[in-house]
Amino acid sequence: MKVLKFGGTSVGTASRIKKVAGLAAGAGRNLVVLSAMSGTTNTLEEIAGYLYNRNADGAKDTIARLESKYLRTISELYSTEESRRQCTEYVQAIFEGLTALTRELFGPVQEKMVLAQGELLSSRMMELYLREQGVDVLLLPALDFMKLDAQGEPDQDYIRSHLLPMLDAKADLYLTQGYICRNAHDEVDNLQRGGSDYTASLAGAAIGAEEIQIWTDIDGMHDNDPRVVDNTRAVRHLHFDEAAELAYFGAKILHPTCIQPAKYANIPVRLLSTMAPSAPGTLIDNTPDSGTIKAVAAKDNIAVIKIKSSRMLLAHGFLRKVFEIFESYRTSIDMICTSEVGVSMSIDDTRYLNEIVHHLKKYGTVSVDLDMCLICVVGDMDWENVGFESRVMDAMKEIPVRMVGYGGSNYNISFLVKEEDKKRALQALSAQLFA
Ligand code: ASP
Ligand code: MG
Repeated sequence: MKVLKFGGTSVGTASRIKKVAGLAAGAGRNLVVLSAMSGTTNTLEEIAGYLYNRNADGAKDTIARLESKYLRTISELYSTEESRRQCTEYVQAIFEGLTALTRELFGPVQEKMVLAQGELLSSRMMELYLREQGVDVLLLPALDFMKLDAQGEPDQDYIRSHLLPMLDAKADLYLTQGYICRNAHDEVDNLQRGGSDYTASLAGAAIGAEEIQIWTDIDGMHDNDPRVVDNTRAVRHLHFDEAAELAYFGAKILHPTCIQPAKYANIPVRLLSTMAPSAPGTLIDNTPDSGTIKAVAAKDNIAVIKIKSSRMLLAHGFLRKVFEIFESYRTSIDMICTSEVGVSMSIDDTRYLNEIVHHLKKYGTVSVDLDMCLICVVGDMDWENVGFESRVMDAMKEIPVRMVGYGGSNYNISFLVKEEDKKRALQALSAQLFA
């Protein structure tokens, strides 16, 4: 059995729902995980915002707008009156429930309930559509098996012991909601924004799936994604660790949380496109491709902070003091280079840059470079291989490089350059590594 996850845009309109239903129904007895229709979770967040602010009118307006979108989709989706009626009843009950919240006290528990409605809606719509098409589909409520423990982490034993028996029931196809779950207090909760990939990965690991398929509307990994250079050769295979390096550069590749469960359960993940359903996509698993450089990715809006101090020389505990400052502002450091007398660190979240710099000045001379770009070359960079570093460095010979990161993992070399040099750097790397 495979797990097939379809994202929000893949179920974003009636015609897309039909297309996904066709793809899912033709692929065998699998478990399908659905996101909410695109835009829905954002709108639900907006509704929750109004409810927090006790703006009942704002909430009601937004609820009505969202409801009419669903009613429109229903009128386009179904061909029988009976399915239309059943779906309309379900949708209206959900929106009545949302409206009822305008009359109650609103807090975090209610907010999570609101956010969960999108996946409940899309999965019920899909269930009824598949039924109409003659598919014997079984909707498995994610709230009955997807569970967080007291630390807020997925409870893998619970998930396995509750999901597996559900698959004993006879059906052509199983369907469930992504993103939504219950927490340790049994309240409705979620796996954070974009969490449907995580559901797919956790469910795939729990049932020992043959494969986890993440379907998107992007045509291949490189197209439509300006952050990754097109080397004209689509990446067909990645190691999980290579995917993890690339995940930082955008969830379009694979949501970062999705990697871990699949990697440890040794279940391959395949990225596929609904635009080209018969294309092989990108396979991610635990097999390394020795000696191959796979991809180059870039991320803008990076700031680099350098702290130089003679106190660092032969001292211990200096880095801890520096890191504690970043930690206290919940700012994560992405790249770091140190010498005996100075440390440079890159961050992409610059909200607390001024505060961080202010505190760092206690320990040394601080300087900041803004508008930098992090470029990452991903592939088999095992240190015992010879020649890779020099090939990559050679490509960068005309470009001013602020920092180089190598040896942090076996799968990556990173460079920090000025944003204005990004294009040139990407072209040079592409020409050198993939020509
Ligand atoms: N619907 C949720 C969101 O928009 C989960 C997902 O799409 O993966 O974040
Ligand atoms: Mg999504």
